[in-house]
Amino acid sequence: MNKSIEAEIVVIGAGPGGYTAAFRAADLGKKVILIERYDSLGGVCLNVGCIPSKALLHIAKIKGEAEHSAAHGLEFAPPKIDKDKILNWKNSIITKLTLGLKGLAKQRKVDVITGDAKFTSSKQIVVNDQIINFQHAVIAVGSRPVALPFLPKDPRVINSTGALELKDIPKKLLVIGGGIIGMEMATVYEALGSQVTVVELTAGLLAGADSDIVKPLTKRMQNKLEIILNTKVTKVDAKPDGLWATFEGAQAPNEPQRFDKVLEAVGRIPNGKDINAAAAGVKVDDRGFIPVDTQQRTNVANIFAIGDVVGNPMLAHKAIPEGRVAAEVIAGKKHFFEPRCIPSVAYTDPEVSWVGVTENEAKEQKLDYGKGVFPWMASGRALTQGREEGITKLLFDNKTNRIIGAGIVGTNAGDLIAEVALAIEMGCDAEDLALTVHPHPTLAESIALATECFEGTITDLYMPKKR
Ligand code: NAD
Repeated sequence: MNKSIEAEIVVIGAGPGGYTAAFRAADLGKKVILIERYDSLGGVCLNVGCIPSKALLHIAKIKGEAEHSAAHGLEFAPPKIDKDKILNWKNSIITKLTLGLKGLAKQRKVDVITGDAKFTSSKQIVVNDQIINFQHAVIAVGSRPVALPFLPKDPRVINSTGALELKDIPKKLLVIGGGIIGMEMATVYEALGSQVTVVELTAGLLAGADSDIVKPLTKRMQNKLEIILNTKVTKVDAKPDGLWATFEGAQAPNEPQRFDKVLEAVGRIPNGKDINAAAAGVKVDDRGFIPVDTQQRTNVANIFAIGDVVGNPMLAHKAIPEGRVAAEVIAGKKHFFEPRCIPSVAYTDPEVSWVGVTENEAKEQKLDYGKGVFPWMASGRALTQGREEGITKLLFDNKTNRIIGAGIVGTNAGDLIAEVALAIEMGCDAEDLALTVHPHPTLAESIALATECFEGTITDLYMPKKR
């Protein structure tokens, strides 16, 4: 062992939550060590998640729009897909961002150590041969893809990381799981030329969202790929000619089907069991989550945890403010992570986004709610884009008229949902939203128009008088 080093704060994991915690703590005057097991900073999000997938989805979007524009009198020749060039471009974005993080760490004098950190006590961590004595620790070790036990160990079976490596474009791809990852990757590979089948265990795609919001996505995707619902894969045989999948369930094909690759996208599990947390006395539950309070503190007073490892939703934009709160609390500020809502977005085509309570949840919780639904076929802007399948649905508390939730499907739904998140945080009521002058013609207008639908004051549609 090398001689030990001292840190006021040690952060384990350099994903968006971890580096935010480290940088914020350094900005608050703390001596920080940031430990990351991989060479590059940024975690899953930057290296093998949010960012690379968005680069590939951008390619898919351009291709889709070019095809779509033929119906409006603008026809392009079929695109030439240069996989390696796409890959290089995607990797260059990752390099730019991860090097940027390295620079930001250096500017703040945050020491970055590459290695696998393990606790040896509530005051000490070992990484490589180095002992680090710390006053406070922030656990930001994230999550990893679930591996289905029955799938063969075969290079043709991939998870989201493998899918983003874009080693090849399989002729026939089976995606197991119709959640966000499954649908985003299905979108990418379909655009790149794969014949894609998605198999989903439950009755619908994107299980967290309301079915009326998911429907336009399902409909559009069904024109491009095969979607098998209420069905699971029970076996995959790796044979020289391909991967033969056996299905079970309502829409299961009778015979095993052959695929060139299988992508498993059936959820993620937290990495809480990987850091020898017991040595520090930190509680880790059976699934690997680390319980924390609203200040991100674990059951051990000087140890904090943030991001995927503390619970769902596993989203970078949840981890980031959690990291900030942990750093600020350690620095003596009386801050808490108590958001009223956390938006979710599937960057599919069309995009699907939701925030606050969904209508399913409102029904389950027997809330007294009302809704305003604005169909984009009445939106001039959506029509000019040839994308009138969108819907903006807003939910309001009937007693207070305050907005409590929203679901949006359509192009740019992921950007549009931010306005509703702000409205929920600010406690806006229907009048606040309806009387806010929205620019015309925009898709953002659909939020004011959906509110008018709720109020019964809409003039862009004819609705029987409500109130
Ligand atoms: P998920 O839980 O969202 O979806 C997995 C789906 O797989 C579910 O619909 C489930 O019913 C289905 N499934 C499970 N077992 C199955 C089986 N044997 N056969 C068929 N279907 C099966 O998980 P995910 O899509 O892997 O995403 C993981 C996490 O990553 C989520 O927490 C998600 O929020 C996050 N993520 C977010 C984004 C984003 O914000 N755009 C993108 C990617 C991932």
